[in-house]
Amino acid sequence: MTKYVFVTGGVVSSIGKGVAAASLGLMLESRGLKIAMMKMDPYLNVDPGTMNPYEHGEVFVTDDGAETDLDLGHYERFTNAHLSQKSNVTTGSIYNTVIQKERRGEYLGKTVQVIPHITDEIKSSIRMLTTGTESDTDVVIVEIGGTVGDIEGLHFLEAIRQFKYDVGPDDCCYVHVTLVPYIEASGELKTKPTQHSVAALRNIGIQPNVLICRTGVHKLGEDQRRKIAMFCDVKESAIINGEDISPLYAIPLNFKEQGLDDTVLKTLALDAPEGDLSEWREIVDKLAHPRYHVRVAAVGKYTGHDDAYKSINEAFVHAGIANDCKVDVQWVDSEQFENGTLPEEALKEFDGVLIGPGFGSRGVEGKVKAVQYVRESNTPYIGICLGMQVAVIELARHRLGLEKASSTEFDPETPDPVISLLSEQRGIVHMGGTMRLGAYKCELREGTKAYEAYGSKVIQERHRHRYEFNNAYRERLEKEAGLVVSGTHQLGEHELVEIAELKDHPWFCASQFHPEFKSTPLKPQPLFRDFVKASLERKKLRGA
Ligand code: GLN
Repeated sequence: MTKYVFVTGGVVSSIGKGVAAASLGLMLESRGLKIAMMKMDPYLNVDPGTMNPYEHGEVFVTDDGAETDLDLGHYERFTNAHLSQKSNVTTGSIYNTVIQKERRGEYLGKTVQVIPHITDEIKSSIRMLTTGTESDTDVVIVEIGGTVGDIEGLHFLEAIRQFKYDVGPDDCCYVHVTLVPYIEASGELKTKPTQHSVAALRNIGIQPNVLICRTGVHKLGEDQRRKIAMFCDVKESAIINGEDISPLYAIPLNFKEQGLDDTVLKTLALDAPEGDLSEWREIVDKLAHPRYHVRVAAVGKYTGHDDAYKSINEAFVHAGIANDCKVDVQWVDSEQFENGTLPEEALKEFDGVLIGPGFGSRGVEGKVKAVQYVRESNTPYIGICLGMQVAVIELARHRLGLEKASSTEFDPETPDPVISLLSEQRGIVHMGGTMRLGAYKCELREGTKAYEAYGSKVIQERHRHRYEFNNAYRERLEKEAGLVVSGTHQLGEHELVEIAELKDHPWFCASQFHPEFKSTPLKPQPLFRDFVKASLERKKLRGA
């Protein structure tokens, strides 16, 4: 029988619910349990695909092409849970479904209301997770986005309250992640905000079973633990100290020491053998003591939000583990190359360069300049999505002499659209969910760097883009510009170029797909891994 864990957050947003939920997932899996994970987001967007990543963080893409919240990236990096369209719902998607049902007359003349119709739809989205091949799931972990007390999250909280009533008290565990701030002036941790947050939850009818207290660099003392336990009616043993821990991957080890998994299993009346986290421990050890060090420049639009490229940053951490190497990623604003405030030669400080995904024309010319520098200076290069498109534009301009070559995304009138829409795509007007999304098969050509990295002929990687390599230029780029098409996907009559590289360069690979989404600490992504290896070799060669 399936059991349910609900993870809520209190006092402030961005408190680490996603990592807490993912860590719990890892711990339960290590004990032989099959888990499923999902996230409920309170905003009205039907999915985060239309949201600005510089404000909201990256859009994470699943195999089946769902554009989801970045917390799903944590779930995939920490666990083996199978994530899909079903794994992320929003207020927008739930209302959308209910309103469509209402239009179809499915409510048989009833007044359609938040309770029960919206709450029923939420509960059914949780149950849907464990249908079909997932029916043998032992534990479903549901993270509720936002903060307790927000008006916009109330329907989700009401639904998970009802859930316990529906399935029975032994089948649900409520974990509340909350802030316990440290007040400098008095030199102590303050429990009052947590008391208030739990009071707000109890007001809705949810009594938390476990509290994860985020305490910054501090630790709860006996006194504070007793106080929280007494006021919040939570056992002292179920109050987990969630101090800031680096690296991120050490967080489950901290929770394990405090018996978080035991407490959750006890609440759920579940028996499971003791778990083994030794592989995970090894990773954390490796991260703590790297032998080597490389510096990578990530050339992109300026972002004040670290989370905008979350999966890329994490893929570098994983590639570092594989190379016993710390990878320092420094973001470099491409507009500086464009407006001349920074010469491309500034990139010579770095051992490798990445150009990542992006939309719109801002900063693109700077990226083209960066690619030219990287190509001519033999600096290792990894291009992702837009990073591949600008590489193709650069080659067309400087090796084929097509000075105005561009993508029709940036210059609809370009005489040489080396990147363009497929004919079927023209005329699409909707923005949401209309890109090429999700995993596609790619066949690699033997003897290429891509083939060497993956070690297999057929791979699957995920996509999120509209524009494609224009095959009208393929032959010239291959014959006259030193481009090697290393992997393709057959889509109907089109052979789509999925990954390409340079013949006369130490390591230059650029993919239309997003390799970062499938990278995990236990399975570092092959392209990232080999790019870091090449960067390390270049560093040694330069005697740096
Ligand atoms: N804007 C480009 C496209 O839509 C690249 C997208 C991306 O980098 N994810 O094709």
